[in-house]
This record gives sequence, C-alpha cells and structure tokens, in this order.
Amino acid sequence: MSIVSAQPSLRLRLTAAAETIVRGGHPWVFAQSVREQNREGRTGELAILFDRQDRFLAVGLFDAESPLRVRILHAGKPQPIDAEWWRQRADRAFALREGLFDARTTGCRCINGENDGWPGLVLDQYDTTRVLKLYTTAWLPRLSEMCDLLHGGRRLILRLSRNIQKQALHDFGLKDGQILHGDLLTAPVIFLENGLRFEAEVVHGQKTGFFLDQRENRSLIEGLARGRSVLNLFSYSGGFGVYAARGGATSVCNLDISEHALSSAVRNFGLNHSCPAVAQCRHEPLHADVFAWLWGKPAQRYDLIILDPPSLARREAEREEALRAYAKLLTASIALLSKNGILVAASCSAHVTAEEFFTAARQSAQQSGRQHEELRTTRHPSDHPATFKEGEYLKCIYLRFLE
Ligand code: SAH
Repeated sequence: MSIVSAQPSLRLRLTAAAETIVRGGHPWVFAQSVREQNREGRTGELAILFDRQDRFLAVGLFDAESPLRVRILHAGKPQPIDAEWWRQRADRAFALREGLFDARTTGCRCINGENDGWPGLVLDQYDTTRVLKLYTTAWLPRLSEMCDLLHGGRRLILRLSRNIQKQALHDFGLKDGQILHGDLLTAPVIFLENGLRFEAEVVHGQKTGFFLDQRENRSLIEGLARGRSVLNLFSYSGGFGVYAARGGATSVCNLDISEHALSSAVRNFGLNHSCPAVAQCRHEPLHADVFAWLWGKPAQRYDLIILDPPSLARREAEREEALRAYAKLLTASIALLSKNGILVAASCSAHVTAEEFFTAARQSAQQSGRQHEELRTTRHPSDHPATFKEGEYLKCIYLRFLE
C-alpha cells in the first residue's frame, strides 16, 4: 500500500547536469539539482524523475530532510516498484554472494548499499544473526516490509547511523540496536572467518559490529606474519592481530583508544586459543591514542605494522588535512619498522582516492630514505562491491623496507 495513496505521485525534474549524472547510473540526486517538484514530498516515498522531454528517467527514495534528496532505486525503463520488484532486488544481492564462501566463513556483507541497488542500507550477516544498518530515515516507513525480505530466517538487528537516531525514535519509536526479528540476544554473536572465531559487537559496535571489509587483507596479513612482531594500530577488536597470530607472529600488540574494543580483542584472541599458533603468540592490548603514542617516539621496533585508521576525511573539505594526517602516520609508522619490516596501510576515506592514498604512502616511503619495495595494493572484496566513485572507499598498500 502506498503511504501517499490519496496524493498524485511525486514527480521531479532535475537540472541538465544532474539528469546526465543519473542517466549515467549515479545513485544520488542532491537538493540543489531538483529544478521542479509537483508537490511537497514525504521522506520515504517514491519520487519519479522525468527528463526534459518528459520521459521517465528514474525512480528513487525521497528524503525531505537530507541534502541528498533522492536515492535512486532504478533508472532506465519504467518499472512498477511493487513487492515482487523488492523481492527480486533482494534476491539479486543474495545471489551475488552465493558460492563466495565455504563453511569456514559465516560472516559476510549481504547488501552493500547503493552498490547493490539498496541506497543508504547495509545488511551484514554473522552466522545466525543479520544486522541491518540504515543511513537514511527514508527506509523507516518501509521497515516492516524490508524486514520480511531481509531477515532470511535469522535474527535481524536494526542499527541506525548516529545522525538519524533521534528522528527514528521520535517519529517511528525505533531504537538503535533493537531486534526486528528473531530471539533476544543472550550471548555474544560469534561467527567464523576462514576458520577463525570472532565476536561481532552487533548492538553497540562500530558499523555493524565488525569490519568485514578487511577480510582479504586479514588473510594476506596471516601469510606475512610468520616469526614477526606485529603492531596493529587502530586495532578495534583485533581482527588483523588474530590472523597474524595464526600465521605465526611471535607477538601482537593491538593498539586502540577504545578500552571496549581492546576487551573485545582479548576475547577474540581467547576464542581462538585452540589454535596452537594463536595460543603461543604473545598478545599485548595497548590502550592509547595512536597519534600521541607515535609522536612520543616509542623505542621498540616491529617487523609488521598494520595501519588502518578510521575515516580521516568525512567531508570533501577535510580531504587535504586527511592526506597530511596519513602522511604523518605513515612516516611515523615506517620509523618504527625493523629491517625487512612490512607496513600494511589502509584508508577507508571515500574522499581520498586510492591513487592519492597510494601516492602519499609511496612518498612517505621514499622520504624515509630506506630501500623498499611495494608488495601489492588491494581494493574492495567481492561481497563489498563498489559501483560508483563515492562507493569506493577501501584501499590498502603493502610496502617492505629492506634495510
Ligand atoms: N583495523 C580495525 C578497524 C579500525 S576502526 C579492524 O580491522 O577491525 C578504527 C578504530 O580506531 C576504532 O576501533 C577506534 O576506536 C580507533 N581509534 C580512533 N581514533 C583513535 C586514536 N586516535 N587512537 C587510537 N585508536 C583510535
């Protein structure tokens, strides 16, 4: 049933530039690109976009409060957006992940927002629990319909981005962390990744509770860790550290500003103690601010350093400053690497391009004056597809310092 059944459908016309962008497949229409609108729109209703010749251009979710005014669901030929359409859209995303993982991996991203045709919505699975994270209130009027489509017989937990929490509670009585489907949580959510066990902090943790996007980098780290002392900067719950331990690292220092994250890292190590290599590895959780700690010029050297900070540029205006911060972090990390040491540096800032980040890393390596080689760069894993520029956030570079 339409939420605005008594009203004519919401029809929009865009500026010529925006029309071209939408035709090119971009999923976002900003408020300033809306040239004409037949009536006031309500958040969550469908907006139909027409081109200058009055032909159907696209249909999307309207958001009256956000500068990101329409999130495109479908562009091209007109299609009725009905229950069957939604079901097919969900099935398409699920089908993309089929066969990607064997039974040793029970955590994966099922829906990656815009990149899977679900703008502003992420669905992650941790074994028998799924976490639905919403970044726009535009989904809230459709939540029960979406819940039926997305729970897949598992527990479904709702997470809300910070900027929509107040409104979700006020207008819909919905709370961050509430259970939408299935049983109450009585124990931590544990899932498998390449045979390792991890807890996902699904109710209070960052994102949906774990950084599933780093899975492939974690595996690569495992392959590089043998016999090395490892420093995991911005460790969160220590995912990289556990892999390094299984890979034969002699020690892992997980450093994070959040005590909560470090407690989780300790539990994640404990969950894998049946693996002899993990049990043998010395684990040191270190509660510190990475910046203050690095600037304090620690004396110890490490054989493998992982540098995976939170997004340092949340806005385009912060891009330059973020690049300067990356350069400082990279330089300070390189200074802590022992001979033959490896630096693995990642960035999850969508406003900093992969080339900008790789250039910053290469420059810092060059300026260190140490002989080095680039081992590889990596991008998104296949359960986190990126289909438009703003959707491409993750990049990682591996550098080895030979002397
Ligand atoms: N590398 C992690 C994800 C990092 S998320 C993983 O693979 O799971 C970013 C982490 O940085 C968070 O845990 C946050 O608590 C931490 N953090 C943010 N600012 C920090 C700072 N100044 N010093 C240390 N840790 C910080």
